[in-house]
Amino acid sequence: MRSYSLIAPAKINLYLEIIGDRPDGYHELAMVLQSISLADQIDIQSIGIDTISVRCTHAEVPNDQTNLAYRAAALLAQQFPDAMAQFGGVEINIKKNIPIAAGLAGGSTDAAAVLVGLDLIWQLGLTQSELEELAAQIGSDVPFCIQGGTALATGRGEQLSPLTNLDHLYVVLAKYRNLGISTVWAYKTYRQQFNDTYISAAQDLQTRQQRVHSGPMVSAIMHRDGAEIGQLLHNDLEKVALPEYPQVLQLREAFEAQGVLGTMMSGSGPTVFALTESEAEALRVLEAVKTQIANPELEFWTAKFISTGIRLAHS
Ligand code: ATP
Repeated sequence: MRSYSLIAPAKINLYLEIIGDRPDGYHELAMVLQSISLADQIDIQSIGIDTISVRCTHAEVPNDQTNLAYRAAALLAQQFPDAMAQFGGVEINIKKNIPIAAGLAGGSTDAAAVLVGLDLIWQLGLTQSELEELAAQIGSDVPFCIQGGTALATGRGEQLSPLTNLDHLYVVLAKYRNLGISTVWAYKTYRQQFNDTYISAAQDLQTRQQRVHSGPMVSAIMHRDGAEIGQLLHNDLEKVALPEYPQVLQLREAFEAQGVLGTMMSGSGPTVFALTESEAEALRVLEAVKTQIANPELEFWTAKFISTGIRLAHS
């Protein structure tokens, strides 16, 4: 019987630009993704029979084949049936700390952890790029979740260029408990409203790359300049989310009033984050905004920027 415990960090988007259409039907994106210390724990254990089972501590996360952690295990079982026959199936337990449907890639990071854990349990010896190629079949954010740290993500988000480590920065995250924004809704609405700005799927790679405006953000990251990074935070999806969800705008304004380095919605939302240069400042901002808004439905977290993706719990 083999078992592994893995730490699966959440991500935030420091930058999210929608470039246009791709021939494969996905959106062409340019993003800067950042791993943070808020993380799920994934325990994977081999069992004697040829089955995959998933359990999660969060009641709203499905325990069936739609769980992204299950999909990751099923993909490896399909690709490596001999390994499953030799080492048996697996039981996956997810201790959920990352809020769900929050724009923090909670499901994607669980899937990434299962790929890394099963590679060990089934002794597959996959390389980082083989793991990331499999990860891309599960979802666009999954390859980044494996690698982690700070990265520029292009294409549909799966082409990664690692950037400088920013582990001197902290973040406060806030989200209304019962507020969810559908990722599909956010992109569909953006398409309806901003279709005239899209590059067409027929454009070549060079034309796509010329449309990307992430240069100043990448440069600020290379200089590890927290104040500049805070100023350059960008998320195109805010253009559709802020008018529709006043709670997101309210959080943005409350963080801004605290003089943080910068504040932005993460991914397709609805989580809003604020950057600070110390943990003490993150805690001060958290308390100030919590007191100001005083709504029991509002949840807060603080976290640190980290330079790793999936890792073993005891390392
Ligand atoms: P992203 O930032 O990648 O858009 P997200 O943080 O907005 O992701 P998730 O937490 O990954 O969203 O979950 C979105 C939906 O996926 C949930 O409503 C849930 O039903 C389903 N889901 C499937 N597997 C998982 C999982 N392991 N953890 C969380 N949600 C999962």
